[in-house]
Amino acid sequence: MVLDVKPEQITKDHFDLVAIGSGFGSAFFLHEFAKRRKARILVLEWGRHNTHEWQLEQNVNTDIEDETTYKTNSNKPWNYTIGLGGGTNCWFAQTPRFHPNDFRLKSTYGIGNDWPISYDDVEPFYCDAEDIMSISGDPDMAAMLPRSKPFPQPPHRMSTPDRMMKAAQPGQHFVMPTARARLPTSQRTSCCANLRCWLCPVDAKFTVNNGLMHVFEHPDVSVCLGAEVRRLDHVGGAVRSVTFRHDGKEYQVSGDLFILGANAIQSAAIMLRSGLGGEFVGSGLHESYGWNFEVYLDGVDNFDGSTITTGLNFGLYDGPHRSEHAAALVYFENRWQHGLRAEKGRLRQALPLVVVTEDLLDPENLTRMRMPSSASRRHRTMR
Ligand SMILES: Cc1cc2nc3c(=O)[nH]c(=O)nc-3n(C[C@H](O)[C@H](O)[C@H](O)COP(=O)(O)OP(=O)(O)OC[C@H]3O[C@@H](n4cnc5c(N)ncnc54)[C@H](O)[C@@H]3O)c2cc1C
Ligand code: SF4
Repeated sequence: MVLDVKPEQITKDHFDLVAIGSGFGSAFFLHEFAKRRKARILVLEWGRHNTHEWQLEQNVNTDIEDETTYKTNSNKPWNYTIGLGGGTNCWFAQTPRFHPNDFRLKSTYGIGNDWPISYDDVEPFYCDAEDIMSISGDPDMAAMLPRSKPFPQPPHRMSTPDRMMKAAQPGQHFVMPTARARLPTSQRTSCCANLRCWLCPVDAKFTVNNGLMHVFEHPDVSVCLGAEVRRLDHVGGAVRSVTFRHDGKEYQVSGDLFILGANAIQSAAIMLRSGLGGEFVGSGLHESYGWNFEVYLDGVDNFDGSTITTGLNFGLYDGPHRSEHAAALVYFENRWQHGLRAEKGRLRQALPLVVVTEDLLDPENLTRMRMPSSASRRHRTMR
C-alpha cells in the first residue's frame, strides 16, 4: 500500500488496473476486485485525503470548492466532493433501493427506457452493498422491494406522524433505509439525530473514511493524490494509457483495465476531452429533485424519531400515473428545516416533507467542451 505515491514514481509505469476517482463507484468496485484478483492497482484521485477530523476542524468536506471545477451557463449548482472517498464524504446516507418497475419503465408504462438488467439481477448486489454500509431498514419493505437477506441493522425509530401513516398505509409507509447507523458498529457510533449529515459530527453515517479505507490501504493498491485526470489515450477503440495533471505538470501511466469513476460530470468531461464522445456521452444529465413542504399538524407532535429522515412513503410512487407524471417518493423529515411552529404549545406540531422525483433523460441537459448555445437548459462546460 502506498497512500499518496508521487507522480514521478509512477510516470510511464504500467498497472493491471487504473481507477480514476475514489468515490462510491471506484471504492465499491475495488473492494470486490481486490478480494478476487491479485493485481497491481493504481488509483488516480484529483483531491487530497481529508480525514474526518480535518473535515470537522475546517467545517468543510474538501479544500477544493466544486464550483471551481466547472463552468456553467445556468445558476444551478452541481454539488459533489473532490477528494478521497468522493461523495461518501458529503452524502446524507439515504439508501432506498430502486423499485422493480423502475427497471422496466418503457414496457410497463410506455415512457423512458427499460434497463438491460432487472431488479432481480441486481438484488444480491444490493445486499452486498448494504452489508458494507451496515444499512438500517424496515423489514416490512421486503413486500414491495423483495430481499434475499434481511437489512443488516434494525430500523430507526419512527416519529409519531410516521407511526400514524404506517397504521393508515401499512403497505406504503416504511422507515427510511439509511447508512446512518441505528446501532454502533466497530467503526461508527449510532446516529443521534444531530441533523447535519453532510458532515456527521459523531461519524455515524458510512463514508470511505470509516468504512472502506482498507481498499486504499490494500498492499496491491497505490493511490496518487492531487492527480487530475485529463485524458484517456486510446488506439483502435481501446484505452491504453491515461494522462493526468499534478502540480501543473502532466504525467502518463498505462494499464490493462481502466475504471472511470470520476462522477457523472467529470467522467463525461474526461471522455469528451479524449475524443471518446459518442451520441450520448455527457448528454441527458438528470437527477433527483426534491420539493420542500411543511404540514401543520393538529394536536400531533413531530420530531421524536431517531434520525434526520425517518419515513418514506410510496403512496405516489408506482402506478399507471407514471405514463404521464414522475413517480414521487415522500420523505418524512424529523428535522425542523422550516423552524419550529411559532404558536404557544404547538412548537412541534409541524411536519416537513420532501417530495422527490427524477426527471427523464433530456438531451438538452448536457456536459460539453465548448460554450453552450442559449437554448440549452442546464449545461456544464468543461475546461
Ligand atoms: C450533498 C449531497 C448529498 C447526497 N446525499 C445522497 C443520499 O443521501 N443518498 C444517495 O444515494 N446519494 C446521495 N448523493 C449523491 C451521491 O453522493 C452520488 O450519487 C455519488 O457520490 C456518485 O458516485 P460516483 O462514484 O459516481 O462519484 P463520486 O462519489 O462523486 O466520486 C468521484 C470521484 O472522482 C474524483 N474525481 C473527479 N474528477 C476527477 C478527475 N478528473 N481525475 C481524478 N479524480 C477525479 C473525485 O474527487 C471523487 O473521488 C448526495 C450528493 C450530495 C452532493
Ligand atoms: S442525523 Fe446526525 S448523527 Fe445522524 S448521521 Fe446525520 S449528522 Fe450524524
